[in-house]
Amino acid sequence: MPMSQDFKDRLLTNLPAITDHFGTPFHIYDETGIINTGERLKKAFRDVEIFREYYAVKALPNPEILKIMQQMGFGFDCSSGSELLLSRQVGGRGDDIMFTSNNTSQKEFEAAARDGGCILNLDDITLVDKVPEMPELICFRYNPGAERHGNDIIGSPEESKYGVSKDQIVTAYRKAQERGARRFGIHTMLASNELNYEYMVTTAQMLLEMIEHIQAELDIPFEFINIGGGLGIPYQPDQQEMNLEAMGRETTELLKAFKTRNGYMPALYMESGRYMTGPHGVLVVRAINRKEIYRTYVGVDACMSALMRPALYGAYHHIDVVNPQDPAKHEIVDVVGSLCENNDKFAIQRELPVVTDGDLIIMHDTGAHGHAMGFNYNGKMRPQELLLKTDDSVELIRRAETYDDYFATLNFERKSLKI
Ligand SMILES: *Cc1c(COP(=O)(O)O)cnc(C)c1O
Repeated sequence: MPMSQDFKDRLLTNLPAITDHFGTPFHIYDETGIINTGERLKKAFRDVEIFREYYAVKALPNPEILKIMQQMGFGFDCSSGSELLLSRQVGGRGDDIMFTSNNTSQKEFEAAARDGGCILNLDDITLVDKVPEMPELICFRYNPGAERHGNDIIGSPEESKYGVSKDQIVTAYRKAQERGARRFGIHTMLASNELNYEYMVTTAQMLLEMIEHIQAELDIPFEFINIGGGLGIPYQPDQQEMNLEAMGRETTELLKAFKTRNGYMPALYMESGRYMTGPHGVLVVRAINRKEIYRTYVGVDACMSALMRPALYGAYHHIDVVNPQDPAKHEIVDVVGSLCENNDKFAIQRELPVVTDGDLIIMHDTGAHGHAMGFNYNGKMRPQELLLKTDDSVELIRRAETYDDYFATLNFERKSLKI
């Protein structure tokens, strides 16, 4: 169940006009779908005293998308200086921004403190002494190690570079308190693209148990738990979607039980990227070449610079051929770009209706970690991004890259060192 039928219907009706006007290739995002998912998320957690989604900016770092998140009351999860700038550009300030960096530099700490600051999430105990100024509100990213299993994309917590270990966590909060922190939160991020909602509930439970453990040692109340992102979406047509409502119900029960035991309910934060926008974006390309050697290749006018996931993780992205000449006639093909790497393939040995040069092809679920992951290797450019708005108008929200962009970093003041 990839791209929704509703998005497909609205897109296909207008696709000829859109491709005539903007040309191909492009990613196009569905504002209606994003808003519906956001409202569904809020509804699933409506009985939590304070719930907030911090959209993971790295999934789709476009100001127009961030504005949609902001209109729904969401904050921004950032992990780089550029993402902080983007979030502040659309008006994110202070508690609207959670900064979850790792291997953090002094420059990043300075960027985090600028323009009204943000919620600082420290990735290591040594950083307590390296933050130029300890903010009043501080959070640590917790890594439970061997106690929990991760999954394929993110790896097992024990082998992951992120977070503060179980042995260090109480000391980390004590040290932060000694440096002047007065308000506290705890964060973790253990899975990626997880379709089993129970994993997420267990994560919330783990954090709630951890804060009871820390409170017993340090007597500090916790304002929030942040269970991270990683909520999965079904990329394959036969996959079931994650049961968000059950996750909401069971997590709320845990928070209520915590309140009964401790007299207060911490806020629940999450930082979904993929879940919020993944299914609400597609990459539209045109078939330009057909090649038959040992296999049949359908060559399209975009390459992995527009979508890295298949090459990087062997990820499946569902593909539709728009109005094939003979819908009943199928064949097995590789769908490829033009980059000089043999893994520049959007699909490998996929059964599709027979594609003719000029056909439009839609690749599903590119609304998160799609355009954003693209690169310029081999001098390939990243495509434009469009937004299909709730009133059915289509807006260009990022232009395609040009050769001038590629050459921009070669335009600089010469410097040299004679030794
Ligand atoms: C990438 C990332 C996310 C978002 O992950 P999704 O799988 O898109 O939900 C959230 N939090 C942190 C810290 C991340 O690095």
